[in-house]
Amino acid sequence: MSKYWSDFVSQLEPYVPGEQPNISNITKLNANENPYGPSPDALAAMQQLSNDDLRLYPPMNADDLKQTIADNFGLVKEQVFVGNGSDEVLAHAFNGLLKQSKPLLFPDITYSFYPVFCQLYGIECQQMPLAEDFSINLEDYKRDNGGIIFPNPNAPSGRLLGLDVIEQLLQANQESVVVVDEAYIDFGGESAAALINSYANLLVVHTMSKSRSLAGMRIGYAMGSAELIEGLERIKNSFNPFPLGQLQIAAAIASFKDRDYFQQTCERIINSREQMTEQLQRLGFEVLPSAANFVFARHADRSAEELALGLREAGVIVRHFKKPRIEEFLRITIGTEQQNALLLSSLTAIIKP
Ligand SMILES: *Cc1c(COP(=O)(O)O)cnc(C)c1O
Repeated sequence: MSKYWSDFVSQLEPYVPGEQPNISNITKLNANENPYGPSPDALAAMQQLSNDDLRLYPPMNADDLKQTIADNFGLVKEQVFVGNGSDEVLAHAFNGLLKQSKPLLFPDITYSFYPVFCQLYGIECQQMPLAEDFSINLEDYKRDNGGIIFPNPNAPSGRLLGLDVIEQLLQANQESVVVVDEAYIDFGGESAAALINSYANLLVVHTMSKSRSLAGMRIGYAMGSAELIEGLERIKNSFNPFPLGQLQIAAAIASFKDRDYFQQTCERIINSREQMTEQLQRLGFEVLPSAANFVFARHADRSAEELALGLREAGVIVRHFKKPRIEEFLRITIGTEQQNALLLSSLTAIIKP
């Protein structure tokens, strides 16, 4: 607290990301980062542009990147918005599209940044309880609302919804914006981007932090009707007209062009996830079915607290949310085969000493 702060700042409760410890020999499975590096082409593109031209402002509308993304999803560039990480893209969507007189609907157990944005922008929200099996029931969202947002797959459950139920929601809900946050869609889901040309109120948000291994570059994008995108552009151009620098734009374009690397690394993570699920089950864990690059699991007789502490002592960090209904779960990011093996051997040592 400081006497120099405004009343508004004094009452904010900011988002707390997974910790980023400053220790090099730690196995970091707590922030859903990609264990494989970015595409070598993306690294080369950034190196090539690390020169005197950085004195210039970047291209104002990142048109080349928008075109690349549009081509990738069968859209036109007026249907694409880019920002400094998908958190920034989401912030603009909350402010510009989801702040309405009626309440915004989202799941009670979901990405914990959503309630923070609601507080930041003064948005009234209604949190819809997940079902007993931690799935989202979109039937619950077919009610009067000022907007709807959910991640697909959801976080931290990892559970995926099919495009059929999302389309049913869109059919029933045409008066407000529906945002599908697809941070993890490349790990086994089908993108709702395919529905954009049919529903003017659909916004699909992606990040390059997870499946494209560029968390450190902060690149996110949204796809939707030109009408929704123009709304986001109006906010962006009233806030920070240059959210992406030259290096980010070049890295993102190169990453999209290197399809093989993208597919191979995603497949590797998906395979590891399936193995990890089986091995955790053998250790006595209940593991929710995941379509993401993490699993959400609870043990039959060991508390999440005990397991998280034991893992930490073994140099492995995972995410433990001390929140009602999920306090006995650990969210474990899928790492390299070696990291996963270390996680499993450490857990085995804690559970079966
Ligand atoms: C990681 C994550 C984001 C944010 O990604 P950035 O692009 O790194 O800001 C957004 N939504 C969900 C559900 C995420 O898990």
